[in-house]
Amino acid sequence: MEINQQIFDKFIKRINLGGRLPVEELPNRVRSLFDCIKERANHKIQMVYDSPNRKFVPIHCDFIDNSKVNAVAFTDNQDYIGINAGTVVILYDLFHRMLMHPGILRSVVPAPGYGGDVPYPPPFMPIVADLRLHDIQLKTSSNPDRKAYADILTNMALDFLIDHEIAHLRNGHVDYLCHYSNKAPFIMEAVGKNLNEHLSLTYQTLEMDADSVALQYNFLAILDYSKSIRDKTKNLQSWEKPYIREDIAIFSLLYAIYFVFRIFNQQSWSIDELKTSSHPPTPLRYQMIFELVNKVANKHGYKNFTYRKNKLLRLNRIVLSEAENAIELLTGKRDNLRGIKNALHPKSYSHITALLNHWKIIRPELDSFNRGGNLAP
Ligand SMILES: [Zn+2]
Repeated sequence: MEINQQIFDKFIKRINLGGRLPVEELPNRVRSLFDCIKERANHKIQMVYDSPNRKFVPIHCDFIDNSKVNAVAFTDNQDYIGINAGTVVILYDLFHRMLMHPGILRSVVPAPGYGGDVPYPPPFMPIVADLRLHDIQLKTSSNPDRKAYADILTNMALDFLIDHEIAHLRNGHVDYLCHYSNKAPFIMEAVGKNLNEHLSLTYQTLEMDADSVALQYNFLAILDYSKSIRDKTKNLQSWEKPYIREDIAIFSLLYAIYFVFRIFNQQSWSIDELKTSSHPPTPLRYQMIFELVNKVANKHGYKNFTYRKNKLLRLNRIVLSEAENAIELLTGKRDNLRGIKNALHPKSYSHITALLNHWKIIRPELDSFNRGGNLAP
């Protein structure tokens, strides 16, 4: 192992997450998935490293030999990002299963004559309980447009997650928590429970900040890409088609992000946990992302962004109904009603205000830990 890989492995073992995943020993068909994600992560890291206002040490991105859904950002002389193998496989598997099913996302990726793939995809998430990467079959749709769209959603979800982790490091979140709470210098994405109120609000506001940075990068990137290929009508490749229409590109990003939140927090949540968890509950977290879309587009003066509030609200409803419809078709049950009902509770509204007020307290304290990141105002 290279020295960075050894340090990564040691730290991951120390916090009981497993160890470094020996990607180089995996069969080629699985390895290429991990290699592709690492290449995308390294490209993002290089872009941050090249930016003019950096106070930045290099980041090493690697994978964790663990079948559960998790990711971690940590510091050990330099910066590290670790993504659990379970996170990668479940996102890939989830989106590809959806696109194999004839009743899911059909209005987004029309496939005339497509009747679904056989064998019929088994229920949501069984694969992660027993992840044997050497034996794993990564199934995908036989329809090229649907396969390409599943790849796009997988990449969008992982890009968002990687930018979220970079933000934890670059905006100084990891150093800040280490300094104030005397904990080891890391932040994990699996939802922590039973925190005291102050620590819970602090974690949640840092999560909001990381989400906001990640949304900003990825949202502007897809708008740019959508604009760059809009006039192209001939020889469209399968992976370009979903970007031709701005509304479908935005839908895809929001849909992918919704499932990032959904897989990291699969449990129903109760109102009582609002001030004891490390992350805001999925519906609130997603709602904050959605509110940001309009703000980010306006802030950047994105002239071609034609979506006004009412169109966005419609798009948002479509994201939520497509997402929950997909879960229902894959699992055979509608399981998020309680989550959505809780999100409409008055205590949920006042929780968002509490988070924004808490951000005002910790925002000035973060300044001295910021390493060239864009902290929210
Ligand atoms: Zn986070």
